[in-house]
Amino acid sequence: MRVHLLLGAPGCGKGSAAKDLVEKLQLIHLSTGDILRDAVSQETEIGLRAKAIMASGNLVDDDTVNGLVFARLREETCDVLLDGYPRTLHQAQALDQFLSDQGIELGHVVEIEVPRDVLAKRVVGRRVCSNPACGAIYHVDNKPPARDGACDRCGSRLKQRSDDTLTAFESRMLAFEQTFQPMAEHYRGRPQYRSVDGNYAPAVVSGNLFPIFMEMHA
Ligand code: AMP
Repeated sequence: MRVHLLLGAPGCGKGSAAKDLVEKLQLIHLSTGDILRDAVSQETEIGLRAKAIMASGNLVDDDTVNGLVFARLREETCDVLLDGYPRTLHQAQALDQFLSDQGIELGHVVEIEVPRDVLAKRVVGRRVCSNPACGAIYHVDNKPPARDGACDRCGSRLKQRSDDTLTAFESRMLAFEQTFQPMAEHYRGRPQYRSVDGNYAPAVVSGNLFPIFMEMHA
């Protein structure tokens, strides 16, 4: 079992790329954003604590997120693709320790890079399928659904995430700018690290990611 990481700013396309990768490769997709949104909608203790933090665009505390991720990793035996984790240096260090304690190998670490002005437009125009089992991602301009407001895959209603407003995006970018670089620096010198240009359509970005994953799968 290996653990792969997709790193990048809010709206860089981690979620869309992860969905494409897990469809084609034998990977389990673990998105900390999805896990936390699920906890919020189930009104678990963690969800109740995380709800306001997430809506304001801030980060949930490291110990809570580490605990959620490690619990899920302990259940898995196949390769896992982590999307949206780690987001801080402390999370990256805790993950290193966890992987080493469990004898799990770190796989690909891929950073998706997108200019900031593009990120804002992507996030504000993003719409997601309200069916948690589907979670398909759309964009009002770049990837509209065939039928207005309905998911192409499962027909469920599309919605805007509560943190995909411009105000929440600004806070998310602030949190990102404060924590991302030290975390990414932790990986940049390692042989597993690659960066890809995410300023293309989702299918093109996924097309550029596949060879990286295939190459190291061989
Ligand atoms: P995402 O779906 O990845 O954009 O995450 C949505 C929100 O969930 C973030 O703005 C944070 O509030 C929270 N979150 C997701 N992943 C993490 C993480 N690794 N550390 C802290 N908070 C997180």
